[in-house]
Amino acid sequence: MSKPASAPKNKVTIGHVFKTIVWPRRKLLFIGLILILIRSAAGIVPPWSTKSFMDDILVNHQMDKLPMLLIVVSIAILIQTVTSFLLTQILSVEAQHLISVLRSRVQKHLLRLPIRFFDNQKSGALVSRVMNDVEGVRNLVGTGLVQLIGGVLTALISVVVLININAKMTLFVLLPMSIFGVITLKAFSIIRPVFRERGKITAEVTGRLTETLNGVRVIKGFNAEPQEIKVFERGVELLFKNVKKSLTSTSFVTSAGTFLVGMASVGIMGLSGHFNLTAGEFLQFTMFMVFMIAPIVQMSNIGSQLTEAFAGLDRTEELMNMPIEDDGTVRTVKIGTIKGDMEFNNVSFAYEEGKPVLKNIDFKAPDGTVTALVGTSGSGKTTIAGLTASFLNPDSGTITIDGIDMSKVSLDSFRSQLGVVLQDDFLFEGTIRENILFPRPHATENELKSAVHAAFVHEFTDRFELGLDTVIGERGVKLSGGQRQRIAIARAILANPRILILDEATSNLDTESESFIQDSLKTLMQGRTTFVIAHRLSTIRQADQILVIEDGQIAERGKHEELIEKKGRYFQLYTYQARI
Ligand code: ADP
Repeated sequence: MSKPASAPKNKVTIGHVFKTIVWPRRKLLFIGLILILIRSAAGIVPPWSTKSFMDDILVNHQMDKLPMLLIVVSIAILIQTVTSFLLTQILSVEAQHLISVLRSRVQKHLLRLPIRFFDNQKSGALVSRVMNDVEGVRNLVGTGLVQLIGGVLTALISVVVLININAKMTLFVLLPMSIFGVITLKAFSIIRPVFRERGKITAEVTGRLTETLNGVRVIKGFNAEPQEIKVFERGVELLFKNVKKSLTSTSFVTSAGTFLVGMASVGIMGLSGHFNLTAGEFLQFTMFMVFMIAPIVQMSNIGSQLTEAFAGLDRTEELMNMPIEDDGTVRTVKIGTIKGDMEFNNVSFAYEEGKPVLKNIDFKAPDGTVTALVGTSGSGKTTIAGLTASFLNPDSGTITIDGIDMSKVSLDSFRSQLGVVLQDDFLFEGTIRENILFPRPHATENELKSAVHAAFVHEFTDRFELGLDTVIGERGVKLSGGQRQRIAIARAILANPRILILDEATSNLDTESESFIQDSLKTLMQGRTTFVIAHRLSTIRQADQILVIEDGQIAERGKHEELIEKKGRYFQLYTYQARI
């Protein structure tokens, strides 16, 4: 049969799982296996003793055998209880530990993926992939696998005992059960893609929900709640259908199991007369038969758990196989402290093939200078900034830093000297202090204070009861746009980068905030190579060079006065802005 077109590329094999998940835990799993063996052996005792109980004690009234029998059975039950407890304790804890290790590994890999990857993903969907997809391994290391191995062992021992009691009757039970076992295994290989699909749907639904909640203002503002409700309903409906599909298959397997067990029992009843069994032997046979059949029926449960685990691992593997932005093989040059000379040599770039966004961008940004990027929306300014930060890589041409080709430079060594202040600046829930310290958590109090003063953050935090320790976010203080920007600027000042990328906010601020921000930006840009997507005239006027970007090309370049005199594109933009 040819592979279906939708066959997952990253299907996890049993061998791979054994090597990466099972083998490293061999010691623990070995202890687990010993415990299972003890438990299984102890589990055999009660049904084994039924024969003696029925035939010797109940029928032949050999009451002297009773105390010993009770003691042996009680000890066996005690052993079963203790081993079950230890098994769950050891293996479930290890399984949970493995989940946390895997989550950290996936999150680490995720953060090392290129920005382009995130452009095409919903953040909520990624959250689900980190948190949910690895959950399944719980069943691989934890009790799922244990139950299966334990059950299989008990089944094997039971088969030996059953053959001992009556070989022909055993064969009678074994045959339909083997067929059932094969059907079950086949069923789960069919259900696996359903589980895989479930992970995808869950991620999408979670992703959309996260977006809905993040954008609740826009949704309410446009009265778009019914639309969002419909989209979500469609998502959960899909999820429901998927679960239903797997439930139908698993319930079919379970019911088929129950049916076969029932039929086998009926058959045994009939045959027991034929084979002349004692009452004790009949009971013993029936009990061992249940022991033999139980794991096969259990497989429908455990099988779905393990199938789910594999499907989750498939999806995790897919993510882990995505190439990270710097794997150390190409970007081998570790740069020390840089001066900050940057140069674009004939750089072209396209997000999608055949649709160039930047064409032959060529300019120098000497160290310590400010380069202002101006131009209409969509002209390519953000893309140039992204290339400068090496979030994106040129399709052709080179970018150099102090004369070194950026595409060879280790990202860590470069980005540790880079600072970004973006429009909708990222502040996370926590205190203002934590938000400023975040690029350099170990900065001294004095360094923090001077950054806070340089960015005029104290001007508003002094008015807060808790000052810098005020919590921002849901339960804390709400900050104005200008205040948020000043925190972002303080953060960048503290980080003290050699290269700075600034995306000025377009929104108008009140005059007071505006002057604070102008002053703090001046301090921030001082002595650093700065690229600014500029909207403020004051920033543009101060720039050492202005690049007017139009349709992915540099249409004009020069200083403010020169460009005004030229009366070209910049002059048009300037006079347009001055008028509004
Ligand atoms: P500006 O910052 O000047 O407004 P951008 O650099 O953001 O312009 O965008 C330049 C062009 O690239 C626009 O046509 C925009 O639609 C396109 N673009 C930007 N980001 C992406 C992306 N992630 N994928 C595809 N196209 C993009």
